[in-house]
Amino acid sequence: MSIAQNILEIKKKLPENVLLVAVSKTKPNEDLLEAYNVGQRVFGENKIQELTKKYNELPKDIQWHFIGHLQTNKVKFIVPFVDLIHAVDSLKLLETINKEAKKIGRKITCLLQMHIADEDTKFGIDFEDLRAILASDFYKELKTDENAGVEIAGLMGMATYTDDIVKISSEFAYLKSCFEKLKKEFFISDSHFNELSMGMSGDYELAINQGSTMIRVGSTIFGERNYKVI
Ligand SMILES: *Cc1c(COP(=O)(O)O)cnc(C)c1O
Repeated sequence: MSIAQNILEIKKKLPENVLLVAVSKTKPNEDLLEAYNVGQRVFGENKIQELTKKYNELPKDIQWHFIGHLQTNKVKFIVPFVDLIHAVDSLKLLETINKEAKKIGRKITCLLQMHIADEDTKFGIDFEDLRAILASDFYKELKTDENAGVEIAGLMGMATYTDDIVKISSEFAYLKSCFEKLKKEFFISDSHFNELSMGMSGDYELAINQGSTMIRVGSTIFGERNYKVI
């Protein structure tokens, strides 16, 4: 099937409240344009240089999501144009995004990345560290700052890479339950804390069943990635 057909197939199955982020990392511009031409506007990338290059070369009504691990010293390069950052995993990173976005009068939607998988290799932080960020003085002040450079809109997580669908579902359910707890504790009067970014090519249906509002799908749309090409 073509990229266009893959997008349309996935969209057919998506509930209305679930956003499809087309993960286009390693893929050439013409692949992204094929998706764009069937209406896809939200794309996810995880490398600063690649994202910046694609931003410069592709239509300006694309919404770019950064989905990878972000280093604080790289934040300034994407803040001028990125729409949403999925994987904020420290207070320091949140502060840096806020500072850089404020400088240029932007407000960037951010998700906090929670660690829900078995593997140590997957980034993200645990529930207590998430609570600590939201309870910090920085975050309290941020909430009262009309010109804040960031807005926390929810959580993101990646399940363990396994065939065990019971395990994957329970990890997503755990993420959802943490989301609900944080919403009650910190966002009771804030309608913006609404997003749960979970689900990739192999598990997005399970994620949707557990309450995902954003799925990040790469290989099912664009085919397998080849990291060997330099
Ligand atoms: C690469 C990547 C995806 C997409 O993975 P697929 O399995 O190809 O759908 C989703 N989320 C993150 C954080 C990624 O790095």
